[in-house]
Amino acid sequence: MAKTYTIAIDGPAGAGKSTIARALAKELGYYYVDTGAIYRTVAYFLDLLGISPKDVDGVERYLDELTIQIEYDETGKQHMLMNGMDVTDDIRTPDISQKASLVSAHAMVRHMLLDMQRAVAKKHNVIMDGRDIGTVVLPKATVKIFLTASAEVRAKRRMDEFAAKGQKVAFEQVLKDIQQRDHQDSTRPIAPLKQAKDAVLLDTSELDIPGVIAAMKKIIGEKIPL
Ligand code: C5P
Repeated sequence: MAKTYTIAIDGPAGAGKSTIARALAKELGYYYVDTGAIYRTVAYFLDLLGISPKDVDGVERYLDELTIQIEYDETGKQHMLMNGMDVTDDIRTPDISQKASLVSAHAMVRHMLLDMQRAVAKKHNVIMDGRDIGTVVLPKATVKIFLTASAEVRAKRRMDEFAAKGQKVAFEQVLKDIQQRDHQDSTRPIAPLKQAKDAVLLDTSELDIPGVIAAMKKIIGEKIPL
């Protein structure tokens, strides 16, 4: 099998990972894998069953009944299928963000999703974003970037995204959610959010989208012919 290039992008919620990774994947002709969407799908499934993401026994009992597939439409958009049902849009709520963060701390959940993520990267050139891609999922990724920004900037960006979808949310609430998720994601014992030793740190607080893309291309170009 031909060698594939893998670009791992990690960082906290709202750092711009998905927006940037999606645009870059399109430009480079890579698959974009949003791994947060996979955790969100697990959280959504358990939520429909009324299982609390903190209920270890409940999570373990029902995980067997969940089949997740990742599909791509003709525009390159990633779709999440939960037992055959497309839940791509349903998983994008603040409530599911929080539940995904809690559910993602379970060893069994992380274990179940690991092979799925690695399998995509084996077959295709990928840009994969998440929290533990450079540290756990693809430790040998060709390029690793850790994207970050201040919590305030990230909350503002999230608020703008909700506004674009017609959802009105208070800044203070979004900021609180982001800080809570940062804490949960970076303090969990298994695969916590952290910068891989060989990842390049990019702070996007002061950059607009084209600025981040240009900075990323510079970093990527040092390892992969663009
Ligand atoms: O990236 P996104 O905000 O969609 O991720 C939702 C949640 O899924 C995160 O807060 C994190 O707890 C979890 N996650 C993870 N590992 C990943 C991607 C996401 O634990 N690789």
